[in-house]
Amino acid sequence: MTSIDEKLEPVLAEVLSRNAGEPEFHQAVREVIESLGRVIAKHPHYADDALIERICEPERQIIFRVPWVDDKGKTQVNRGFRVQFNSALGPYKGGLRFHPSVNLSIVKFLGFEQIFKNALTGMPIGGGKGGSDFDPHDRSEGEIMRFCQSFMTELFVHLGDKTDVPAGDIGVGGREIGFMFGQYKRLTNRFEAGVLTGKGMLYGGSRARTEATGYGNTYFVQSMLNTKDSSFDGKKVVVSGSGNVAIYSMEKVQSFGGKVVACSDSGGYIVDEGGIDLDLVKEIKLNRRGRISEYVRLKGKCTHHIENGRIWDVPCDVAMPSATQNELTGRDAKALIKNGVTAVGEGANMPSTPDAVRAFQEAGILFAPGKAANAGGVATSALEMQQNASRDSWTFERTEQRLAEIMRNIHDLCANTAEEYGVPGDYVLGANIAGFIRVAEAMRAQGVI
Ligand code: NDP
Repeated sequence: MTSIDEKLEPVLAEVLSRNAGEPEFHQAVREVIESLGRVIAKHPHYADDALIERICEPERQIIFRVPWVDDKGKTQVNRGFRVQFNSALGPYKGGLRFHPSVNLSIVKFLGFEQIFKNALTGMPIGGGKGGSDFDPHDRSEGEIMRFCQSFMTELFVHLGDKTDVPAGDIGVGGREIGFMFGQYKRLTNRFEAGVLTGKGMLYGGSRARTEATGYGNTYFVQSMLNTKDSSFDGKKVVVSGSGNVAIYSMEKVQSFGGKVVACSDSGGYIVDEGGIDLDLVKEIKLNRRGRISEYVRLKGKCTHHIENGRIWDVPCDVAMPSATQNELTGRDAKALIKNGVTAVGEGANMPSTPDAVRAFQEAGILFAPGKAANAGGVATSALEMQQNASRDSWTFERTEQRLAEIMRNIHDLCANTAEEYGVPGDYVLGANIAGFIRVAEAMRAQGVI
């Protein structure tokens, strides 16, 4: 376990006291600061001019009221957030999350992670994140649209293709992006395609953006397995979640010869030892917007649904947590290790608790942190911006080829950086250090900003 360098202890203490009551943000900052001791020892100038303190302080935080009227005519009020964290490398870039658990701590942890993730892609994008505590479950299409319109009516002044470019996240997919884009266009009288990514193909979307995060995570894990002369072929895989990231992780794993045996949603998990029928999962989650438990009713024998268990008790070779933060605990990590897991790729943001990460690393498991492994989504968003700027539209193959190349580069950058700093195989340290150095260099060049 890495500990905090004594020069950085006051920096962390200041962040904790200044952002009281924000546990997820503390967790994300602590992990990065723990990695930076080795950087400061080698290059002390990175601690000058309060550079690390500045990185931990968002450039701007916007919190706003989102009033809307439900189908019964009742007025509802939600809270909207956008944290524009760091623009040293480019316009703020990061998704919007609609989920009842969203608060400032969650948005700040996600925005902070996003800075380094975006830096790792090598593309010209800064870090930001946003969302609302709006719960889209069981809301009609009309309610979702009115909510999205009200949300954008407040947020649009802060956005722009050269300023801040949101995308989707939990609870925000192509439908919600479409409603928000329509409202932005109406309010500004500008068809500014590059202001949002994850758009539909007919109005400026990119092929392979929908698939990119899940595919990208799978490419990253494949690169890790290759370092041990291994691959997905014949491996048993467990993927948590059954949303965007989970579905397209499962799709790519299956195309690489892996067998996915379990997936989940917030109501529980399903096991299908014969291999998950992905067409059925897509029908339930993407078309019907239903519950994963329906899988067992529709598929029948040899499958089961567990309501109150832990998906990580299902034995597997590769685990891909792809639902939400802190969904994989130290106890879950021990169960996975006991059952023989060899690799873990985080599709979600910060899904493993610090205890779990420590357990995997101590057991010598290949462990890919989310900020590297799930960077394929934002990287393909940057490819979408590139296509919008040149009014071009690439083929699926060309876009996926770029994504695969980017993921290989991120893998190699993390692996090489870990090696350079004396911790070979530590992708957490590699990702944190490599991402930090890119942002720090850009900030140093731009003066005290
Ligand atoms: P979706 O909304 O498409 O899917 C989320 C899935 O996770 C659903 O199956 C949902 O179940 C489940 N889930 C959400 N919250 C919880 C919870 N508290 N407990 C248990 N299950 C939960 O989101 P995405 O697939 O887009 O995002 C998943 C993760 O990946 C998030 O951490 C996100 O930040 C990260 N990510 C997403 C990117 C993207 O491009 N979409 C890019 C990079 C990271 P239910 O349907 O029951 O709510």
